Amino acid sequence: MSDCLFCKIVARTIPATLVYEDELVVAFDDINPQAPTHTLVIPRKHVTSIAELQDGDVTLLGRLLLAGNKVARQKGIADSGYRFVVNTGADGGQSVFHLHLHILGGRHMGWPPG
Ligand code: AMP
Ligand code: ZN
Repeated sequence: MSDCLFCKIVARTIPATLVYEDELVVAFDDINPQAPTHTLVIPRKHVTSIAELQDGDVTLLGRLLLAGNKVARQKGIADSGYRFVVNTGADGGQSVFHLHLHILGGRHMGWPPG
């Protein structure tokens, strides 16, 4: 999608601090970090939200999560713990409509989230 911010990051037409990439996903640091580690993992293909995923996307979804684990190891938060977040739709707090997994860590996370 030509007007999608995260598609532009995948296409390298806008800059991002890349952390990990493979043939299915790209990970980059969040521009407005909410924790000492705050990285996003996104599918290369445009998917609006997790709600749009189909049965055929099960590998993509699994690889998104596994990439999140790789990011956590790479960032040194695998042992201290971390949180995956996927905001979905208006009440879920989604602001960028290209599926993304937040990886947050480096501090204690409160519960419940706001
Ligand atoms: P969400 O509110 O779950 O849709 O999360 C969108 C996230 O994208 C927010 O945490 C933003 O800080 C982040 N974000 C927006 N623009 C950029 C960008 N150009 N590079 C990196 N992260 C971004
Ligand atoms: Zn997109």
